[in-house]
Amino acid sequence: MPLHNRNRIDPISEDVYEDPMSNTLLNKFQLPQNSTQPEVIAQFIKDELLLDGNAKQNLATFCTTWMEDEVHDIMDLCVDKNMIDKDEYPQTAEMEARCVHILADLWNSPQAHTTLGCSTTGSSEACMLGGLAMKWRWRQKREAAGLDASKPNLVVGPVQICWHKFARYFDVELRQIPLEGNEVSTNPEKIKDYVDENTIGVIPTLGVTYTCVYEDVAAMAKELDDIQSEKGWDIPIHVDAASGGFIAPFIQPELEWDFRIDRVKSINASGHKYGLAPLGVGWVVWRSEEDLPKDLIFYVDYLGGNMATFALNFSRPGGQIVAQYYNFLRLGFEGYRGVQQACVDTAQWLADEISKLGPFEMFYDGRGGLPALSYTLKEGDWGFNLYDLSDKVRQHGWQIASYPLPNDRQDTVIQRILIRHGISRDMAALLLRDIKAAVEYYKAHPVSHSSSTRTFHHT
Ligand SMILES: *Cc1c(COP(=O)(O)O)cnc(C)c1O
Repeated sequence: MPLHNRNRIDPISEDVYEDPMSNTLLNKFQLPQNSTQPEVIAQFIKDELLLDGNAKQNLATFCTTWMEDEVHDIMDLCVDKNMIDKDEYPQTAEMEARCVHILADLWNSPQAHTTLGCSTTGSSEACMLGGLAMKWRWRQKREAAGLDASKPNLVVGPVQICWHKFARYFDVELRQIPLEGNEVSTNPEKIKDYVDENTIGVIPTLGVTYTCVYEDVAAMAKELDDIQSEKGWDIPIHVDAASGGFIAPFIQPELEWDFRIDRVKSINASGHKYGLAPLGVGWVVWRSEEDLPKDLIFYVDYLGGNMATFALNFSRPGGQIVAQYYNFLRLGFEGYRGVQQACVDTAQWLADEISKLGPFEMFYDGRGGLPALSYTLKEGDWGFNLYDLSDKVRQHGWQIASYPLPNDRQDTVIQRILIRHGISRDMAALLLRDIKAAVEYYKAHPVSHSSSTRTFHHT
């Protein structure tokens, strides 16, 4: 007899598949009337989850899919900590602040010890905060000068969807510079045709989602310097370094894209992408304290002091932040460099091997940007298109994205493979084997199609 009557159906057997629940369909639209033994229902849910793709074989995502056992322990330990309760969990709050300063230092902030920044749920929220700060600074300047502040615009290249959301949710006109000809990233020279006195900022992407290349932040800043000399408009840059913010400092340390450039006022990155933290954490950091308008900050009393918070969310789990701090201390600069370099080397190796297969034209071969590769299908009668290839390798569990390029290059379909922590050279070789087999298969069994259009969501 259980101590508490929990009004649940007790199992008749040790074996969950002998339980009466095993002969029923799980409720899908209504709460069940009664409770069920945890091990029974947990087993059925675990079974259902098997139908999801295997995360490690998902080479379409930038997000972390492999973690050390210690990270699992930390996540478990923190499962009940709410990061917004800074009074109750002051050490978690402190670890968040340490991460901000570590990133500010990694990205060469001139005031790395004092500047402001925060954790977010990911780069999307971080971009919203970066965008809001730009909108506020622009409006304050306009109002102080007695000028109209009702028509803000934001100038971007091939940005991730979060910037389209920012523009719509916060009522800012999005001016997107199209990709033309063979361009894979924003041509800095075009910026002057898109900005004006109402431009709140320009967003270069360090690691364009679609092509994995870095946009030339320094050249874009230089264009904006010239525009300022000529027209007097002082237009700031926010760098969307969702992926590149955790790659460039380790792999391309000489590349100037960060706070070394005066015009860069804020930077975001996804802790849960190449930051190697578990899903659910992003970061945004301002160049210096003055670059974040004060009236966007809410102050929370915290251990006799005042803790600045700036966020769209309130309650959030603390584990991802603590795990991020763990990774920083555990790996250090050299550890991150080693992890990222191994990914870069494997991406370049795989790009070279896939080039040798014949049908593919490398679009990005893993050199100079993110640890990734992307390619198109050469003109020819190969018996398949890239969507067919994605389908075929999916039979072996591999998830590889095929999609058209954005703005004005939609006619070009590319396939993109991301290499991240946990994808070994041997695993990449197994993928290569399956791609090779698919090419051979379609040679023997060509598909005929009119055209296929698919949608694909970039993460
Ligand atoms: C992934 C990505 C985002 C969105 O980041 P989340 O962490 O998934 O919210 C924004 N910008 C770029 C360039 C990205 O690659």
